[in-house]
Amino acid sequence: MNEADCDVLVVGLGPGGGAAAGAAAGHGARVIALDKKRRVGEPVQCAEFIPMPLGRYVAGEPVLQQRISGMRSFLPSGAVKDSPFSGLMIDRAAFDQALAERARAAGAELRLQSRLESVDFRERVARVRQGGRRWEVGYRVLVAADGPMSKVAGLLGLPPQRVAHSRQYTVPLRRSLTETMVWLSPDYPGGYAWLFPRGSSANLGLGIDEAFGRNLKPPLDDLHRKLVAAGLVGPEILRRTGGAIPLGGMRGALVTGDVVLAGDAAGLTHPITGAGISAAVLSGEEAGRAAARWMAGECGALLEYEETVRELFGPAIERALRTRESLKWSWGTPAAATDEQQRRGWIAFEEYFAV
Ligand SMILES: Cc1cc2nc3c(=O)[nH]c(=O)nc-3n(C[C@H](O)[C@H](O)[C@H](O)COP(=O)(O)OP(=O)(O)OC[C@H]3O[C@@H](n4cnc5c(N)ncnc54)[C@H](O)[C@@H]3O)c2cc1C
Repeated sequence: MNEADCDVLVVGLGPGGGAAAGAAAGHGARVIALDKKRRVGEPVQCAEFIPMPLGRYVAGEPVLQQRISGMRSFLPSGAVKDSPFSGLMIDRAAFDQALAERARAAGAELRLQSRLESVDFRERVARVRQGGRRWEVGYRVLVAADGPMSKVAGLLGLPPQRVAHSRQYTVPLRRSLTETMVWLSPDYPGGYAWLFPRGSSANLGLGIDEAFGRNLKPPLDDLHRKLVAAGLVGPEILRRTGGAIPLGGMRGALVTGDVVLAGDAAGLTHPITGAGISAAVLSGEEAGRAAARWMAGECGALLEYEETVRELFGPAIERALRTRESLKWSWGTPAAATDEQQRRGWIAFEEYFAV
């Protein structure tokens, strides 16, 4: 006998899970959404930039931190390119919490400090640990929005995703900035460094391909020192974070039986920029809607989810994967110190779109 039963079980309450739970509940499904965290969205593992179209999910304070007018990219020679990539800087914890609250208001039951441990996919029963207690929940559709190291994907027997490792400090900003800054350099093989302003502070971080190890402290400290010397940021480190960013592209299948993958669990993060909030929210909404439609008897709804998500994100992800593939020979070699090579690998340059 299960402790709980639902139509749609959502695993993970990041942006993908919050959006999925809200959409499924809003379309009449009985939803249980669980997360192993004590508080939704905390601790933050994010640089907190979202593109403008996602602004409709940002009602204002406390989510909105500041507006971004464009992006400034620095090449190895010091050459600079300004691009009109506008967007918003958000408080990521508040963003995730707002999505979860919207799901709760739509009727979803949220359970925190609840870690999915195993799933009987045949019987459609998930086993969950909440503190010292274990409970079981029966479901009809399972939406896996459990991030880059998805437990559900592992239980389905899917391989781990290729990732970039990242490390980030939040630092005081010495003068106000309205653009994001990006550094392309041989010091960050298969990745880049960023400074994203959020009012009086900024997120300073970098990511590199997993093939180049996990020790990101020396290059990040080095960049931090340079920016302190330039008077742009202060020496204090207000917050430290980091994490894995999936760069391997979309999973071969996003739907297996009645299990639907969304967000990072589905491999929807952009393999060059590492941006994944937008794809998590949009795929989560699609997954929640599809799950509710499937419950209502539309038997093609889950497969339609897969088609929609592939259409939405496939072309950009495929281009980014081709670019990674064509450039990876140069990572860690002197060729990566040339502007020409870096221009091919970054979205601000027309060379990127020539591949
Ligand atoms: C350092 C860093 C900076 C980034 N900066 C940006 C940025 O500026 N802009 C951008 O668009 N993207 C950025 N990203 C990527 C972005 O954060 C992710 O793409 C996004 O969080 C994906 O959302 P998600 O809901 O799919 O997964 P997640 O946000 O990872 O949420 C998954 C949730 O599942 C829960 N969970 C996992 N396993 C279990 C389990 N077994 N049981 C219960 N719960 C579980 C986790 O606790 C988590 O809350 C960044 C990533 C990193 C690491």
